[in-house]
Amino acid sequence: MSTAIKIDRIAIIGVGLIGGSLALVLKQVGAVNKIIGYCRSRESGQLALDLGVIDHLASTVDEAVTQADVVVLATPVGAMPSLLEAVAKSVGPEVVITDVGSVKQSISKAAGDALGKHAHRFVPGHPVAGAEYSGVSAAKVDLFRGKRVILTPQQDADLQACAVVQRMWQAAGAEVIEMSAKQHDEILAATSHLPHVLAFALVDWLAQQDRGDLFDFAAGGFYDFTRIASSDPAMWRDICVANKQQLLIRLQDFQKAIGDIAGLIDSENADELMKIFERAKAARDLTLPQRSDSRNKK
Ligand code: NAP
Repeated sequence: MSTAIKIDRIAIIGVGLIGGSLALVLKQVGAVNKIIGYCRSRESGQLALDLGVIDHLASTVDEAVTQADVVVLATPVGAMPSLLEAVAKSVGPEVVITDVGSVKQSISKAAGDALGKHAHRFVPGHPVAGAEYSGVSAAKVDLFRGKRVILTPQQDADLQACAVVQRMWQAAGAEVIEMSAKQHDEILAATSHLPHVLAFALVDWLAQQDRGDLFDFAAGGFYDFTRIASSDPAMWRDICVANKQQLLIRLQDFQKAIGDIAGLIDSENADELMKIFERAKAARDLTLPQRSDSRNKK
């Protein structure tokens, strides 16, 4: 199938890091004629307009949606249910609706509840790409290049709508894969949501310790491990709550693993500790080889 796509008018609801980056790349590759943006605050929207990320700033969701052929929800997950209700009031039968939220089951359910007869034209998506920075000023034209985007369409999803969203992301340079929303939430709970919780928890716990000099001795490993604790707190609060079930399963399993390691340290079981560390190193080196190599070259 050809990946070339030309969308006449796209509405991006929430022109921040992800929405702004999508707007930049679609414009650069000529995949869209006009980008309409809508933000919660006038300041963010005006900044997106001033930076040339969007062509038109809508004052309301209704104004954005009624002008669009494709609507992309790119706000924090917690804002999406009410925005989907607002979208439902204005959306026409031919419009394709998608989102970029980091949790898929709860958003699919909210879309089903809100969109009614338009629900089959909603194609949930999640670009597995990002950064710890927020807002349109952090948007990057190459944010999605070579990255994966996961689509989790329902079984009765409109095939033409799925093709539009797939080709939109391909135009942005991403590799598109499909899976169920449940599978997505299970996997991302382990590889994204759990690590963010651990990073936030570690930094907060250290910051609460009764001595001010701990961070003075933080080296590269600490920076690597905690970089994602600089991510937007509101975004991650929403993700944790929305993927509560899967995240709690992973957290509980992980607490057990940490407890086991504490036991091995306490009993000075060096052989077992070595086995775990070797297993972890082998798994990381095997599964994330390019990133390990590129860091080692620095
Ligand atoms: P962001 O940079 O903070 O941008 C969020 C945008 O949404 C801002 O323009 C914000 O406008 C707007 N917004 C917030 N609440 C709104 C509301 N109620 N109505 C309308 N607009 C609203 O966030 P982001 O990093 O782009 O994340 C956006 C989505 O992408 C999230 O669902 C996240 O789960 C997902 N995602 C993020 C990453 C990542 O690494 N950051 C990666 C993949 C997916 P104001 O500035 O006016 O508040």
